[in-house]
Amino acid sequence: MKPTHIEHIGIAVKSLDDSIPYYESLLGTSCYKTEEVKDQRVKTAFFLVGQTKIELLESTDPEGPIGKFLEKKGEGVHHLAFAVDNATEALQEAGQKGLMLIDKVSRKGADGMNIGFLHPKSTHGVLIELCNK
Ligand code: ZN
Repeated sequence: MKPTHIEHIGIAVKSLDDSIPYYESLLGTSCYKTEEVKDQRVKTAFFLVGQTKIELLESTDPEGPIGKFLEKKGEGVHHLAFAVDNATEALQEAGQKGLMLIDKVSRKGADGMNIGFLHPKSTHGVLIELCNK
């Protein structure tokens, strides 16, 4: 798995309503999409910076992954997502190299992507997502 680029950076926020205007002003570009991902218990908002997206994540459930992250760490960078040709193959390759996986096969994520996560315990504390279109 050789990632082609950073597909997006996921940032946990308390409120999309508060943070979307801030990022629109900071980046000089409009949010091009918002989407709820029910199984992740988040609402997302996307911005494009070059070929890399900024993905804002607002929790819809305090017990969900972003809800727990906000509770423990507060707002901030949540994950880095690398674009790969095939997320499932990249996950399996990472697993064979001994990395801990959160997902063994890719699943449907926001913005039409197939996604899967490596466990931050085996990636020096950074939650890493592998994704493909
Ligand atoms: Zn992501």
